[in-house]
Amino acid sequence: MSRSWSGEAKPLPPNLDLEVDMAALKTKICGVDRRTVSLSCPDCHCVLREIREGNIKRYRCRTGHAYSRLSLAEQQRTLVEDSLCTSLRALEEYASSYENSSPATIMRVTRTSNEN
Ligand SMILES: [Zn+2]
Repeated sequence: MSRSWSGEAKPLPPNLDLEVDMAALKTKICGVDRRTVSLSCPDCHCVLREIREGNIKRYRCRTGHAYSRLSLAEQQRTLVEDSLCTSLRALEEYASSYENSSPATIMRVTRTSNEN
């Protein structure tokens, strides 16, 4: 049992000891298959570990960020979208900086930047 702010007794969540062991990165957890995967944490970029309990896959990093398959996919999608928006904005700003330049000026700037 635990107590809420109002003092009301609440039952502990099921598998709380399992969650604590996973957060502590214990290498041996009974009934749970863990392995390092070639994915990075969307929040801190640490290596993720995949945790399998039957058909359920979850992911955790060393920092403690935790994801389901769905929440990891959503975070990855957000990162890709943010990265594409940043790239598009940079390309638009690059293009607008030469908007009123002559082709000769653009060629000279491009040639100079390629030499460096
Ligand atoms: Zn993380």
